Amino acid sequence: MSHSEQQTGESVTIQTDQGLYVNPQALTAHLPALDYHDGALYMEQVSIADVVKHYGTPCYVYSKQAILDVYQAYSDSFASLTHQICYAVKANSNLAVLGILAQAGAGFDIVSRGELMRVLAAGGEAARVVFSGVGKTYSDIEYALTQGIGCFNVESISELTLINDVAQKLDKPAPISLRVNPNVDAKTHPYISTGLKDNKFGITHEDAVAVYEQAAQLSHIDIVGIDCHIGSQLTEVAPFVAALDKVVELIHNLRDKGIELRHIDLGGGLGVRYIDETPVSIDEFAQALLPKLSELGLTVFFEPGRSIVANAGILLTKVDVLKPTEHKNFAIVDAAMNDLIRPALYQAEMAVIPSVLPENGIGTDGTQPWDIVGAICETGDFLAKDRLLSLAVGDVLAITGAGAYGFTMSSNYNSRPRASEVMVADDSHQLIRKRETIEALYADEVLWQGK
Ligand SMILES: *Cc1c(COP(=O)(O)O)cnc(C)c1O
Repeated sequence: MSHSEQQTGESVTIQTDQGLYVNPQALTAHLPALDYHDGALYMEQVSIADVVKHYGTPCYVYSKQAILDVYQAYSDSFASLTHQICYAVKANSNLAVLGILAQAGAGFDIVSRGELMRVLAAGGEAARVVFSGVGKTYSDIEYALTQGIGCFNVESISELTLINDVAQKLDKPAPISLRVNPNVDAKTHPYISTGLKDNKFGITHEDAVAVYEQAAQLSHIDIVGIDCHIGSQLTEVAPFVAALDKVVELIHNLRDKGIELRHIDLGGGLGVRYIDETPVSIDEFAQALLPKLSELGLTVFFEPGRSIVANAGILLTKVDVLKPTEHKNFAIVDAAMNDLIRPALYQAEMAVIPSVLPENGIGTDGTQPWDIVGAICETGDFLAKDRLLSLAVGDVLAITGAGAYGFTMSSNYNSRPRASEVMVADDSHQLIRKRETIEALYADEVLWQGK
């Protein structure tokens, strides 16, 4: 039995020989935006049945309050320092999400020209944007510099010289940080671990000072900061502290060489509770870092993505077909790996809960083990495996924790239109992205005209 106790004393999960039971009420007790009223699931004060009636399935639904609460928790936890929270756009780049955060005063961490255009379209300020990523092109840099980007997080010497060239041509100095790779183990999934020396990211700790000295020689480079980002879904604080120590050491070495910085950027990566993980809270995270950060006298940047939006969102999906077989029971739903790839790509375990609680009450009685799968022609097309649920065709299920790396990683594989997205606030709901039409999928394609 793997139990995880929480405030109500009810365990969120029960592992039996047949599969994993996720107690919907105990789970939602940890998710501020979600609750059951008379057995029906609500996000804020909006009934999920209403959302399905208006917008159909599959459909992503986000809580405005949940997004703002986490943003505010970051801001409050670091209130004693001059700080800037740069939301990592790739986690969820819907304009409505970006607009809500921009209004709250957030900055943004972007990894492409497209993400910068989204931020600007949503009312964000370029001066509060940091531009990360290993492969910035000439035109990306030109666009960002013209818009007045806050900082380029530079990942290689060749990028540094390219930025200098563009800045010289535009006659506009480019603000930069070097993204250093502190070589610490983030203890997370290898695909989302980015701070080890054999990852493609950043400039090694050993080379960093020399590259800063090179940068200082370049005519159109304005050194403003130092940056690191060691991975995603980190549940412990120790790797962050280890990375900070390595970066602080570099800051001191740079000071000795006469290179003064204005900010330190500690990236994103703070983990969330998907089912029964126990990540450090934002407050604990801040308490661990604040003493060391305060001594530096620099502005502090963070780039959180997942922790701001993951638990603000759910993916709603309808059960289309139930297919019990001798060895496995498959519930084929109308969402698939093209809508939510985390289970297939990262073996991520996400909670699947009913939108209406079964009448015979809560518990493993009356449940059967189901693999929740999509209709795509891939064995890897699953959303969850061996879950104890009581299912009927037509039931609507909610996959929680889907606000981050959900819609943004979705694709059109199997010519499936991407899902609709809805924002909920108090008792109101609004479509923030229309379901894609199938015609739109091939509208830009051209029949072969030759012979
Ligand atoms: C992805 C990414 C982030 C956000 O990571 P989360 O785990 O979602 O907080 C921040 N900074 C950089 C450079 C990234 O690549």
